[in-house]
This record gives sequence, structure tokens and C-alpha cells, in this order.
Amino acid sequence: MEPLFGIMLLLAIAAGLTIFFMTLSYVTKILDRHDLKIKLCNCGKDIDTELDRIDSVYPVNRERTKWNICCQTHNMGCGRVVYGDTLLQAQRRWNEGEADEYVI
Ligand SMILES: [Zn+2]
Repeated sequence: MEPLFGIMLLLAIAAGLTIFFMTLSYVTKILDRHDLKIKLCNCGKDIDTELDRIDSVYPVNRERTKWNICCQTHNMGCGRVVYGDTLLQAQRRWNEGEADEYVI
């Protein structure tokens, strides 16, 4: 077998695997987001509606390495805020009933 052909074959396999895993991680992220169920707040308010989520669930920094979920007082909530390093972590902590602070 030509050595060049072997190298080309290896490169093609590597490229194929890279594309496969990139697609897999992308799809996993999308599924994660859609599965994200946010429980009622401790005060009983449901922030998992389309309108409230925009206001209540968002990254705190530009790098998206810190997230918060809050029960906004201007939406008749109690002001509870929960932080997380990822959206999923913030969601888990929220669903476990944690409260990092109350912003009133
Ligand atoms: Zn609340």
C-alpha cells in the first residue's frame, strides 16, 4: 500500500470521528436544554413559563460560566436566587430547593 494513501486514510478517519463527536455533543446540548424542567419556586411561583424563563434563567457573565435562576420580585416572585457554574448545575440546585440569596 502506498504510504501516502495510508496517511490520507488515517486523516479521513480522524476527520470523520471529529465530526461525529462534535455532532454528538451538539445534539446532547440541545436535548439537555429541552429536558430542562424547572420546578416551582419555594414560594410556589412557576417560573418555567416561556415569559418568566427569559427573565429568570440566564448566564451572569459573558463567558457563560456562571448562571443564575431567580424568582423575580417584579414578576410577583419572592426574590430567591440560585447560582451554578453551568445551567444544569443551577437547575439542579434550584430543583433541590437551595437559595443563595434573596434579592428584594
Ligand atoms: Zn419564589
